[in-house]
Amino acid sequence: MKPAPFLYYRPDSVEEALAALAQQGDDAKLLAGGQSLVPMMNFRLAQPAALVDLAGVGELVGIRRNGALEIGAMTRQSAVMDAAVVAETAPLLVEALTWVGHTANRNRGTFGGSVAHADPAAELPAALLALEAEMLVAGPAGARVVPADDFFLFYLTTALEPDELLRAVRVPAAPDPKRRVVAFTEVARRRGDFALAGVALVADLDAAGAVARAAIALLGVDGRPVRMADAEALLAGGSLADAALRGAVAARTRDALDPASDHHGSAEYRKDVAAALVERALRQAALRAGQAPAGEDGR
Ligand SMILES: Cc1cc2nc3c(=O)[nH]c(=O)nc-3n(C[C@H](O)[C@H](O)[C@H](O)COP(=O)(O)OP(=O)(O)OC[C@H]3O[C@@H](n4cnc5c(N)ncnc54)[C@H](O)[C@@H]3O)c2cc1C
Repeated sequence: MKPAPFLYYRPDSVEEALAALAQQGDDAKLLAGGQSLVPMMNFRLAQPAALVDLAGVGELVGIRRNGALEIGAMTRQSAVMDAAVVAETAPLLVEALTWVGHTANRNRGTFGGSVAHADPAAELPAALLALEAEMLVAGPAGARVVPADDFFLFYLTTALEPDELLRAVRVPAAPDPKRRVVAFTEVARRRGDFALAGVALVADLDAAGAVARAAIALLGVDGRPVRMADAEALLAGGSLADAALRGAVAARTRDALDPASDHHGSAEYRKDVAAALVERALRQAALRAGQAPAGEDGR
């Protein structure tokens, strides 16, 4: 299939991109890496009257550390994966990206495109939810900042208005990077496919090695990535080395879920997979914190 005809804009700045969006109204779509939008257009699942191609907007590309980590929306996913500053300050993002599609998709696909696309089975939205990231939005009324928790609303739906664009994503620094452990794992039918379910885990430990704060975000189990507040509360104050606690956190996760059944798997199966992944991520985190009892390999 070929896409329906469309007008094409190639702005050089955020200002020009916003002007093009304002001119075209709801009928325009921003084009980033095209890895999701172009297939949807080819199948005519999306038929925008105009495309506003962000490829020439250099100010949207780049990774900066200024206390927090700031990743420009048009930074390619592969560039984020390869950046030493990301590996140092937000290794969860690198780990999450290793699960995103294939090398070719990550070479074209952008960080912001994946976030704005908001597929509930996508890795980056869940990782950003666990990291309590903020979305830096530009629009005709100026800039605004939207916490990840308020940004992802539903299947392919975010808090962005049609005349706004995602400029960058800000990831806050860990309270103490040396005491932060993270893990990301998922189950997909084939390597590179979207996940049936997955988990992003962040645990900040106190001086004694107990969990001071935990964030558990799941993908693929709801219309948007979701935090498991009850499971996180259970983990707080406990030890990652405590196998009974890890099992209880996984069970609490399972209880909190109400996924839909579809042709990939039943609701019960998804709940079982999500709980098993939470337990696996906790074991990985224990191992990475040097707390796993002998014989546990974290897998
Ligand atoms: C074979 C294949 C396998 C894939 N597997 C996975 C996977 O396992 N996990 C996964 O997460 N993704 C996967 N993807 C999707 C991939 O990650 C895409 O790169 C991503 O979903 C969209 O990024 P993009 O830059 O290509 O955006 P585009 O496709 O260009 O745009 C996607 C949507 O976001 C909007 N948008 C883009 N940039 C902005 C912006 N700055 N502000 C506001 N709106 C914007 C567009 O208007 C469009 O609606 C796969 C894709 C393919 C082709």
